[in-house]
Amino acid sequence: MIVVMNPSAMPESIEKVKARLEEAGLGVHISTGENRTILGVLGDKRKVNIQAIEMMDEVEKIVHIEAPFKLANKQFHPEPTVISVGDIQIGSQQLAVMAGPCSVESREQLLETAAIVKEGGAQFLRGGAYKPRSSPYSFQGLGEEGLKILAEAREKTGLKIVSEVMDTESLPVVCEYVDVLQIGARNMQNFHLLKAVGRTDKPVLLKRGLSATIEEWLMAAEYILNEGNHRVILCERGIRTFETYTRNTLDLSTVPVIKHLSHLPIIIDPSHGTGKWRYVVPMARAAVAAGADGLIVEVHPQPEKAWSDGPQSLNPAAYAEMMKEVRKIAAVMGRVL
Ligand code: PEP
Ligand code: MN
Repeated sequence: MIVVMNPSAMPESIEKVKARLEEAGLGVHISTGENRTILGVLGDKRKVNIQAIEMMDEVEKIVHIEAPFKLANKQFHPEPTVISVGDIQIGSQQLAVMAGPCSVESREQLLETAAIVKEGGAQFLRGGAYKPRSSPYSFQGLGEEGLKILAEAREKTGLKIVSEVMDTESLPVVCEYVDVLQIGARNMQNFHLLKAVGRTDKPVLLKRGLSATIEEWLMAAEYILNEGNHRVILCERGIRTFETYTRNTLDLSTVPVIKHLSHLPIIIDPSHGTGKWRYVVPMARAAVAAGADGLIVEVHPQPEKAWSDGPQSLNPAAYAEMMKEVRKIAAVMGRVL
């Protein structure tokens, strides 16, 4: 349930209500909005006299949240969450673009890609150092060496770094180098990992699982939020359907659905969403038109030579074209890039 405080409630009264709920063994998360404060209450409500709370002077009303996701729920946090990463504000009017290779392959490859990404106007450089490959015989990533190269690219370009963390073991080392932790589709329900990233101070890009419902996805976000990390960015990357002409089916309806249900920002990955470079630009345009807060796309200087996901990677010209097109749609949508 949530406790909506009166607009005039003073900090002392908010503390009083919070203390009363905590005495009953409930967890309380405070969300301070522009006009009023909302307390998100988690735990067994039978332990508290709800009517008595509702009768308190400072309380405007109590709303019961039926959905299983509470902290991710828009009812708990009516204003959109804006996540600052340096001077970039994800979830604001500003559109966030993350671009780069699927995998960090070498220093030369990454620095060359970083320069292209920067030139096109994206604010983030993506690149996997730990790769969740379907086959154990495929390239598994450069590990810490890859992270060091990403950090060097940040030094050289000022781009923020996004990279995937696959397990709790490597979480401390990934945190040392990246600005945003990526949780891949295959790990969306790795609850142990979700809790661990929830205890870090890094923003988390949470990809939708290969066959996860929107509710399961929001419950995965809930695991992170519940540990105290409120900087979660959702990322739709396509789900598995019967269709075979595309690698996945990019579910763009998640944009309005998430905007309706949650306050968390959502970005779209048209690269994994389609699996083919020629479909990436149209779907990037559509994502921005649907109201997404940003994009994450794979870019490679020579996609035909990429060690992973070459077929869906944009070459430099296609990436430049995408940025040009996306800027036009962004302007129509009142967003800045
Ligand atoms: C990736 O971003 O390269 C990746 C592996 O993505 P996903 O987890 O969405 O498959
Ligand atoms: Mn990839």
